[in-house]
Amino acid sequence: TIGADLARAVERFPDREALVDVVSGRRWTYAAFGAAVDEVARALVASGVERGDRVGIWAVNCPEWVLVQYATARVGAVMVNINPAYRAHELAYVLNQAGVRLLVASLAHKASDYRAMAEQVRGDCPALRETVHIGDASWDAFLARAAPHHAAEVAAREALLSCDDPVDIQYTSGTTGFPKGATLSHHNILNNGFFVGETLGYTEHDRICLPVPFYHCFGMVMGNLAATSHGACVVIPAPSFDPAATLRAVEQERCTSLYGVPTMFIAELDLPDFAAYDLSSLRTGIMAGSPCPVEVMKRVVAETNMAEVSICYGMTETSPVSTQTRRDDDLERRTSTVGRVLPHVEVKIVDPVGGATLPRGEAGELCTRGYGVMLGYWDDPERTAEAVDAGRWMHTGDLAVMREDGYVQIVGRIKDMIIRGGENIYPREIEEFLYGHPKVADVQVVGVPDERYGEEVLACVIPRDPADPPTYEELAAHCRDRLAHYKVPRRVEILDAFPMTVSGKVRKVELRERYGRRPD
Ligand code: ATP
Ligand code: MG
Repeated sequence: TIGADLARAVERFPDREALVDVVSGRRWTYAAFGAAVDEVARALVASGVERGDRVGIWAVNCPEWVLVQYATARVGAVMVNINPAYRAHELAYVLNQAGVRLLVASLAHKASDYRAMAEQVRGDCPALRETVHIGDASWDAFLARAAPHHAAEVAAREALLSCDDPVDIQYTSGTTGFPKGATLSHHNILNNGFFVGETLGYTEHDRICLPVPFYHCFGMVMGNLAATSHGACVVIPAPSFDPAATLRAVEQERCTSLYGVPTMFIAELDLPDFAAYDLSSLRTGIMAGSPCPVEVMKRVVAETNMAEVSICYGMTETSPVSTQTRRDDDLERRTSTVGRVLPHVEVKIVDPVGGATLPRGEAGELCTRGYGVMLGYWDDPERTAEAVDAGRWMHTGDLAVMREDGYVQIVGRIKDMIIRGGENIYPREIEEFLYGHPKVADVQVVGVPDERYGEEVLACVIPRDPADPPTYEELAAHCRDRLAHYKVPRRVEILDAFPMTVSGKVRKVELRERYGRRPD
């Protein structure tokens, strides 16, 4: 179980650092971290949290987030990760959907007043007994309940736990629709964190800078669990993503590893004072979550010190990683594939129509099975049955190719595929071309309805210099000699920013809705 794994790290590396919060300057060794988790676990028991009870965490990145993660696991509770960007009505939906009994929340961050919003929904959430806010008197009062005699109860709970018990309800990003709550077990996420850390070659000497939200698997599994299962240290640069604070944290804390979704790396590389940061301590990192443009990967390898940076592919429902590039993979594999299948995981590519397994080299739906596949969507057997078949294969909804050399390439989401005049078009391929244009900082390609062809190709572009955006003609000319005519965008929209999920993914659904109507 997760508690047993943490106990092992505490025993092996008591004096090494486990957690650093750069903003507040607080730091914990493994011994201190173990003791702090212990205190929160006793406080949960003292607060009446029973085995199987749902404990919500609705907070921006902070050390208490991590303490709650490990403490809930130790007492057999099920942590419910709630998106810190949620407003009151979304919060109420999740609290009720998961039947949350105790909610741990931030106090305030930027424009979000978590206390006011939690207060607002209290009457609508009958299962919710108590809300504790990190950083005010309610958190201190919660901790003060922990008495020494509760330690015996925590130990008794741990003895009863099974590694197949649910430990976490993790909502998907909501890129393609409303988020779904994937129920994950100790076995699911602990294995995933461990193998991701193994692939990166983590040891107790690694220090991982995490600007990605803990609320998602990228932070709490590939970050926190990968770290504790190897005795490595988690560094929190800021409560929410801030490119300058991230690079400052890498420099100050001598981080060896840095995580991000592609757009985060782009924001860091594009900082006007990027060259001023000392990134020489970096060795590795992970870029994941959405397609990683080749140009961005080349810049990360060339301009930061992350020669071993890894690409991962996965999804919330599979805890999350299924494939990952290796430390010694060359740039070609690192830029054009998402790596090989992790140990003890299987991948097959099937025909989306009919489900026959396809040979290597052919594009189809990626299905995966192994320790990572979720227990199911919380309280939703119907959608679970649609996603996970009788053989425990997870049907991902992603189109992929398994190459002859065993490396996997993601072609795109089935839902994002553009069908123009009967031709299947994968937006990714066009995006890769447009990234190569000097005036393009970021680009998303979507299909919009068209009377003649059914769908047309639209490119949404964030220009490098807002005062000098690329013209339609420039972009079309850039593609024209290198892409088949039907793939060349017919429309270009210039934007300052894309609609994003809090995990940093572009909501193409929203772009399609916004530009779906023909201009007058
Ligand atoms: P929802 O399921 O709610 O629509 P989501 O699928 O974005 O949202 P996540 O579970 O966070 O929620 O993301 C998993 C998806 O992210 C994968 O199914 C895949 O489409 C995409 N993805 C993840 N890693 C990569 C990668 N390395 N390259 C391309 N796509 C990726
Ligand atoms: Mg999904």
